[in-house]
Amino acid sequence: MAEQIPVRTVDLVIADAAELLTCAPDATDLIGCVRGGGLAVDDGRIVAVGDVSGYRGRRRIDASGKVVMPGFVDSHTHVVFGGDRAAEYAGKVAGAPPPEGAAVGITGTMADTRALSAEELVDQALPRVRQMLAAGTTTFESKTGYGLSREAEWRLLEANARLASAVDARLVSTYLGGHAIAPGRDPEQWTAEIVAQLPEVAAAGLAAFNDVYCDEGYFTPAQTERILAAGLEHGLVPKIHLDAYSHTGVAPLAARLGAVSADHLNYTTDAELEQLAEAGVTGVYMPCLEYAVAHPRPLDPTRLQRAGMEVALATDVCPGCWTIGMETVIVMACRAGGMSVPAAIRAATRGGALALGLGERVGSLTVGRDADVLVLDVPSHEHLAYRLSGSPVDAVVRAGAVVSGARTPAEELSDKESRP
Ligand SMILES: [Zn+2]
Repeated sequence: MAEQIPVRTVDLVIADAAELLTCAPDATDLIGCVRGGGLAVDDGRIVAVGDVSGYRGRRRIDASGKVVMPGFVDSHTHVVFGGDRAAEYAGKVAGAPPPEGAAVGITGTMADTRALSAEELVDQALPRVRQMLAAGTTTFESKTGYGLSREAEWRLLEANARLASAVDARLVSTYLGGHAIAPGRDPEQWTAEIVAQLPEVAAAGLAAFNDVYCDEGYFTPAQTERILAAGLEHGLVPKIHLDAYSHTGVAPLAARLGAVSADHLNYTTDAELEQLAEAGVTGVYMPCLEYAVAHPRPLDPTRLQRAGMEVALATDVCPGCWTIGMETVIVMACRAGGMSVPAAIRAATRGGALALGLGERVGSLTVGRDADVLVLDVPSHEHLAYRLSGSPVDAVVRAGAVVSGARTPAEELSDKESRP
């Protein structure tokens, strides 16, 4: 008879998944699919992956017939704003021009956003963020950029900080004073004000990243460089919106400054994509935004892959693209963008983590990383792209705690017996 292996008791065991997708960095199939695998979690971190027969969980989730995968990482959102653009959208889809003088686009919600205190901004954003978490997003980025004045941008930063402690998901704050030129402002003057605000932003610890929208009618490559270089001096890592509607030629700058991500990329050339890949810049693809704006030149994300870039998927949830769940983004990335299902799943997890500089913490289910885990009520990962609507998320685990999802019949509660 074999020697009995001692059983280690841990906080949580998720066992017998039809498919466990580790999305490990080196997974040759991109998603690290293990049939019948499980996870052991203790103290918020993953302690075992695959065979968990040597672990007993104070809490146990039976994932038989289900898919277990990392929580989604939504690396590009503008989820904090006031008001909405529903009327503008309705007019657009009907082909009706907006009323004379109406504020549209990024400035369409500027007045509504400026009118709100940080607390009120959180009140408006919180329902959206709770829905994101319920749909499986355990880490998300939140940009400022809808205030477009120093005071309003500061309130948006404060709102990010409050939001971070109000939700169970991990929030990564990005300063995006350089989102657009506010109406009536001089671009050079607004650039100078942004540069002047960056040291305060960094000193207050209110943002990890510094982002600029570089495109025709927005910031020029020279202004973009001033803003991103100034942020770097204060430890704010660059991110960049580039080439969404025109070719700016700013991609080499993003590579040179070591941007953590380059987002949109619709008009970026193949040679520039290769430069970005070389510099380790993650490319962020947002197919729902392209759909919402009926983009004239949707990105072919397979160009990024061919150039050797790691791809991240993101919702780009904002007043112009009210997308909550990453499952919709995966659907669109596969059908509209031609990504394979494993590539899209990896981009929604590991790719997103890289686009936030969190590749060692989240986005993969490997030993030592945060236990941010989804249990999906589908029998295989292909269903993520195949089901056009209806969230498959059955349970959401963030840092080892079940934060969303009812106690399903699949969950065996052993915590009652083992906890006081
Ligand atoms: Zn954006």
